[in-house]
Amino acid sequence: MHWFFILTGLLFSLAALGFALTSFFELENRAGLLTLLLSASFAAIWFGFGAAFPGSTLSVGVAAWAATMVVVLFLALPIGKPRPLKTEESRAERFDERHIMFGRAELREGTPQYEEYYTRLNPKSKGIDDDIRAMPELGGPGARYYDELDSPYMVSVFEFIEKYRHLADPGMPGRKPACIDPHEATRRVKGFTRYLGVLDVRVTRLRDYHVYSHAGRHLANWGLEIGIRHGYAVVFSVEMNHRMVHSAPLPPTAVETAMEYMRIANISICLATYIKNLGYSARAHLDGNYQVLATAVAHDAGLGELGRLGLIITPTHGPRVRTAVVTTDLPLVEDQPINFGVQHFCEICKKCAENCPSQSIERRDKQEVRGVTKWQSKMENCYKYWRSVGTDCSICLAVCPYSKPDTSYHRVLRFFIRRNAPARRLALFLDDLLYGKRPRHVHKPEWFSPA
Ligand code: SF4
Ligand code: SF4
Repeated sequence: MHWFFILTGLLFSLAALGFALTSFFELENRAGLLTLLLSASFAAIWFGFGAAFPGSTLSVGVAAWAATMVVVLFLALPIGKPRPLKTEESRAERFDERHIMFGRAELREGTPQYEEYYTRLNPKSKGIDDDIRAMPELGGPGARYYDELDSPYMVSVFEFIEKYRHLADPGMPGRKPACIDPHEATRRVKGFTRYLGVLDVRVTRLRDYHVYSHAGRHLANWGLEIGIRHGYAVVFSVEMNHRMVHSAPLPPTAVETAMEYMRIANISICLATYIKNLGYSARAHLDGNYQVLATAVAHDAGLGELGRLGLIITPTHGPRVRTAVVTTDLPLVEDQPINFGVQHFCEICKKCAENCPSQSIERRDKQEVRGVTKWQSKMENCYKYWRSVGTDCSICLAVCPYSKPDTSYHRVLRFFIRRNAPARRLALFLDDLLYGKRPRHVHKPEWFSPA
């Protein structure tokens, strides 16, 4: 056999073996086994042919090499410009936090807030909201996945966050503002935030529609008009553990959600306090105490694109992240929105919508919602499902092809997805083939109750 023929076969086989091993490490046994099977068949045919027809092996090797290069180059050609999310800034309206499900679920019959909400603001939601309030609390007894030993993990972390959410506002600066150029300020803010443990950090100008119009959480503030005089928003993400997310919708995924909200809340409070100590006003926006819509801020700052599932999809970890924001009057340098093909890919994918147990995710085309053309999820259905199972479900996060770990193999595939339509179709086909169309539950960590 000619050395070039042998080299070609070995390179293919090694690449496939590497992918299979990576898959086993990611607990993706189906992907690992299928890759081993396909690559072993390929190697048997390739080397069998080489042994049977030693005279023609070089020409076959060259032809196969050339064909591979053509296919790879074709998949990498930038065919068709990826479409960005359409936002009409002039038509984008502020959203009232009183309409989000967490705020609505806190309303109690007989209180002035309850009366005002269901008589004046949103009478048509009274029925479904009353039904939801009658259901078990998140992590509480009565829900399908309630476990008296597992469920308190999540409840405890959220209870802890609740204790320090008032630290979101670090108070008035106690000194006159430091004289610092916006580029230097941005470098320091981003560097410090990365040091504190975030995956990515970006900056945007704070726009009107980023800010909730009225407070909707915690009855003491309920209905207060929100006004932030800050001009900038720093937004950042932390990674959710891949294995924990893949237990969705079982309790480990909810513990992971709580854990990452806690981690990012700490980071946002530290950053806001640092900016205050430079002599500028700042406020952290963390779980249970937001004054801004983190998803809109994250999109405009270029942390990711808005996907069909209604969450930000980041270039390296997809929707498998949690985000927080710090707003400030410290002048910073603004980043721009990014476009890496998510709008196109979500159009053909729909995996989140097809697997959503409550049919909350839009399967049809985007619609214009308050100035943004996007897929609008049904938050009532989603939250009702959470209350019925006692966790935050997260099946949509677990099945999203972008949620894969940030390894070299997945990076290569994401590069192709960004480039053109045939690559996106091929990526979706491979995702279905190797990982399956349905979610699967990875074993719980050993410190959970046995399955
Ligand atoms: S969290 Fe679950 S119920 Fe909610 S949208 Fe995602 S898959 Fe659907
Ligand atoms: S699962 Fe598919 S359709 Fe849903 S957000 Fe992810 S890429 Fe988009």
